[in-house]
Amino acid sequence: MPRLVLATKNPGKVAEMRDILRANGLGALEVLSCADFPWLGDVEEDGETFEENATKKALAVAKATGEVALADDSGLEVDALGGAPGVRSARFAGEALPRGASRDRANYEKLLSLLAGVPDPERTARFRCAVAVAAPGGRVQTAEGRCEGRIIFAPRGSGGFGYDPVFVPDGYDETFAELGAGVKNAISHRARALRAAIPVIRDLLGLDAGEIARQKSGDRG
Ligand code: IMP
Repeated sequence: MPRLVLATKNPGKVAEMRDILRANGLGALEVLSCADFPWLGDVEEDGETFEENATKKALAVAKATGEVALADDSGLEVDALGGAPGVRSARFAGEALPRGASRDRANYEKLLSLLAGVPDPERTARFRCAVAVAAPGGRVQTAEGRCEGRIIFAPRGSGGFGYDPVFVPDGYDETFAELGAGVKNAISHRARALRAAIPVIRDLLGLDAGEIARQKSGDRG
């Protein structure tokens, strides 16, 4: 059975990724995550692009485990802020926060205060996600997904995480935090990047080659 290691310990991400893999014909894969390799250290996300960070994580996990590994890196780009917070989305409000403060809330509150006075038509933004798939030998390929939308003036909704309460995707009036997982997982940057990565996963796991070989032997028999 082919195996794929997801380079994350986040159980929410693992569940979301498993669903997308299954929905795209990869249900037979044995899907592991970094939680199955507790001795793995964290990889520092110090790249200048999402692609760089995802590639670094996927290669590190593939080399350390000897398995094909998939990593993602994502964030929010706001046009009125020249693309910030971008690769710094997770720590936008700073490294050290007051005790008990919610990092997600501190991040989107900082965003809203920087956007004070910016009118609705200029509040365009997008979530971006890069997915990298790496083999232990060092072969690596990437795919990307985007979700366009805009930043509203005050948070709404209690679902999701991160900047979800202030992001309204194009074509909707509700925030990601109001829309719920069903809609979000169908249109999100991560879902789109993973779907785009399906042929890459098949390629690095040699699945297409295997299928062709099986077909050929079937033809002969
Ligand atoms: P990472 O890819 O998990 O490292 O995500 C980096 C940061 O981007 C997160 O901590 C969030 O602040 C933000 N982010 C990424 N994806 C989402 C999303 O789907 N909703 C809201 N925020 C997100």
